Amino acid sequence: MKRAGDVLPITLSYLGIKKKYEEQSVALHWREIAGDEIYAHSRAVSLNRGTLLVAVDNSVWCHHLSISKEDIMHKLNSHIGEKLITDIRFKAGNLKDYQNYENDVEELELQQKVRLVKLSLQEREEAEQKTQGLKNQNLKQKITKIIKKDIALRKVRLAEQWKKCQNCSVLCPPEDMLCPACSLQAKKERINQIRKIMLEVPWLTYDEMQGFVECSKGEYIGCKQDLQESFASEVRKNPEANMQLMSYIMLKQGLKPDQITDDIVEYSLHSLRRKKYVFTPGS
Ligand SMILES: [Zn+2]
Repeated sequence: MKRAGDVLPITLSYLGIKKKYEEQSVALHWREIAGDEIYAHSRAVSLNRGTLLVAVDNSVWCHHLSISKEDIMHKLNSHIGEKLITDIRFKAGNLKDYQNYENDVEELELQQKVRLVKLSLQEREEAEQKTQGLKNQNLKQKITKIIKKDIALRKVRLAEQWKKCQNCSVLCPPEDMLCPACSLQAKKERINQIRKIMLEVPWLTYDEMQGFVECSKGEYIGCKQDLQESFASEVRKNPEANMQLMSYIMLKQGLKPDQITDDIVEYSLHSLRRKKYVFTPGS
């Protein structure tokens, strides 16, 4: 009697999707087989008659990977469980071009998982109840199907340790506390807070800011640059805008009001004007 493991590849081959399945398998597992360092510079792109095409983001890594070709091939084949790959070709190119392919593959794999989920009687009834009121049978069927798919997707996600967002009921990956929407909202609020504090205390360092708002260095620098730029443009428009000039200096130099000397003011004003004259010659 044949074992399930023997039957599966034959069935897939019969359906004409064996090749696609193998390609997907290599592309999907490229990261875990090759390791994070190699993955940062390369993607498995296609598999054709045993030759795996790998896109690499620069020629130095192309050379580096070519040297380890035998080793990588061995790892791939033992991962797949048969000697599927007989050669690897490395091609220098832009990895971004292959990002879509990878997303497609992930999406396909997810769909496959969702299709394999068996809903319980209760779950099926739940979906049908929600569309009970719909008169149009065609529409009713379509929406019920969507709801069932949604329940199945939720089951897949839960099995993969996804958990509820801390702020709403949307499921998010184990490593995230918030769903993308809530995370974006939280970021907006954080940025507003940073700006407010920076306007009050422009000289705060990043570490000092942490005492008020926990934020990333990028968020801190981004806010600082935005405010600096808006004060600078006000001063360029109106040289009498002393408050704006002082705020600009405190932000740029990290100085408190009593640390700002006439020389510093003169120098800052001069450098702001110089920039203006570069952009508007003749004024
Ligand atoms: Zn959320």
